[in-house]
Amino acid sequence: MLKHDVVVVGAGLAGQRAALAAIEAGRDVAIVSKLHPLRSHSGAAQGGINAAVGKEDSVDTHVYDTVKGSDYLGDQDAIELFCREAGPTVVEMEHFGTIFSRAPDGSLARRPFGGAGFPRTIYAADRTGLALLQALWEHLGTARFTLYEEWALTSLIVRDGRVQGIVALDRRKGDFAQIGAKAVILATGPFGRVYGRTTNAHSCTGDGVSAAYAAGAALKDMEFVQFHPTALMETAILITEGARGEGGILKNANEERFMSRYAPHVLELASRDVVSRAILTEVLEGRGFPDGSVHLELMHLGKEKVESRLQEICDFARSFAGIDPVTQPIPVYPAQHYMMGGVGTDSHGATNLRGLYAAGEAACVSIHGANRLGGNSLLETLVFGRFAGEAAAAYAESAAAPEVHDADLDASTAPWRAWSSRSDGEDPSTLRTEMQATMDRYVGIYRNEADLLEGLRRIRALKERAKNLRVVDQSRVYNVNLTDALETAHMIALAEVIVVGAYARTESRGAHSRTDYPKRDDARWMKHTVAVRAAEGPQLSYSPVAYTRWEPKERVY
Ligand SMILES: Cc1cc2nc3c(=O)[nH]c(=O)nc-3n(C[C@H](O)[C@H](O)[C@H](O)COP(=O)(O)OP(=O)(O)OC[C@H]3O[C@@H](n4cnc5c(N)ncnc54)[C@H](O)[C@@H]3O)c2cc1C
Repeated sequence: MLKHDVVVVGAGLAGQRAALAAIEAGRDVAIVSKLHPLRSHSGAAQGGINAAVGKEDSVDTHVYDTVKGSDYLGDQDAIELFCREAGPTVVEMEHFGTIFSRAPDGSLARRPFGGAGFPRTIYAADRTGLALLQALWEHLGTARFTLYEEWALTSLIVRDGRVQGIVALDRRKGDFAQIGAKAVILATGPFGRVYGRTTNAHSCTGDGVSAAYAAGAALKDMEFVQFHPTALMETAILITEGARGEGGILKNANEERFMSRYAPHVLELASRDVVSRAILTEVLEGRGFPDGSVHLELMHLGKEKVESRLQEICDFARSFAGIDPVTQPIPVYPAQHYMMGGVGTDSHGATNLRGLYAAGEAACVSIHGANRLGGNSLLETLVFGRFAGEAAAAYAESAAAPEVHDADLDASTAPWRAWSSRSDGEDPSTLRTEMQATMDRYVGIYRNEADLLEGLRRIRALKERAKNLRVVDQSRVYNVNLTDALETAHMIALAEVIVVGAYARTESRGAHSRTDYPKRDDARWMKHTVAVRAAEGPQLSYSPVAYTRWEPKERVY
């Protein structure tokens, strides 16, 4: 029987940082990852990581910007802790070997980002995530731990009210296996693939969040879905906010710099929900280009700046859109980008299930509230990854050995194995495509009651059909058909929670924008949504938002 003190599921920045902390605390640690660690979505992060490090900037301003950006739904105690840890976290990553871009005087270069009162986004050109991920992976390489690479978590083992391990599919062999653990840390990252038009990698399917939900964990604020304003029109590949941070501007088909109507003070650098709604409004009101896009212009910045500060963007625009940003505008349109919601945790990663911790995009602490600021997520993975690793290690030190029985494996994996023995049933990729089309159409940037009800009806129908999934491919080694079926089932479960939460929340706050309830309603809705699984679907309840120093105000940029 495989057993460890702490099993970390996910090898992106959050998982690696959590593992490092648990190893440093002296525990026997394993990392389980369905991808090679360096293929994690963290490596796709472009624009940068926030930290108030200069003399002119302050931790308090970072806190205030984050609270305001969250539309007052972020927990202020957690945000204060988060922003205080930012400087030391970035310095630590530099000491681990991250090569950040520099200002002419040799200090860390910082660029302005949306919703930030000061340029505080530290970056490595437009490959910040990869620079951080490589440095952390190399650092982790000096430590002792077990890596289960290309193993995909399918469910959690819960016994006596305590999480005692995981069940996973070893994709290289095609076998399911159990790994016992005193503590499990979920760091399985984003689940943007619930949508069709998304900047997220194909692997971002929320398996860990779904497994936690199935095991009884409470999911928090799932209706808050961030749409990034600028993704390439055709492919939804991200064009970093750093492009606007470096001075890029948005124009409609009438050559107007339309952000002056929506955010007169900060224009393109308003927070993401504001800019995404502005673009959609321009297009819906007929001022978009014939392909339904608006234009992001970088030409005025000059070849030297565009090619040095935004190398990857140049490459993406040239390779995937046939556009040279040095001389041509880039057609862009919003795409799903980030999930503010996730497995509810306290600020040390603990969930409502004993022995279960979560960190990174899979978790909801909540510091992002109703809308995340760009650059705060990379920071979140490292700060709360470390805290979760420390807390899980401390718990595991005194926890009893996990109780996991070989005999249970067959029963717990029977439903998935049944998919391969059916002669008739639903094709996973068909269900996935229908789910994505439903979420794109009915649960997008602007929402209303009729659309959400229709979206829910369709997702529930897909949930029914998913009971009858069929895996045609009978091979064992790297069975992509089976992986696809598992991921699709996870995503349909999460899609239902998103729609139910969005339907219930009859107000507009941050990224959740209801045309039938266009105002923020603090009297009724200044609270977190908490969703727990029940036989008939997600059961919602609400929990209070933590306040320290910042009174809710109207949010203008
Ligand atoms: C294109 C893009 C650009 C971004 N740019 C920025 C930016 O500039 N600044 C910023 O702050 N944020 C940015 N973000 C957001 C940020 O990158 C992510 O929120 C963050 O990196 C997530 O890190 P993570 O460790 O939680 O998850 P990930 O890095 O996605 O790692 C998830 C890990 O979980 C593993 N996993 C998943 N499911 C399973 C399973 N079933 N079994 C085993 N392992 C599993 C995967 O193998 C992977 O190792 C960007 C996001 C995207 C998509």
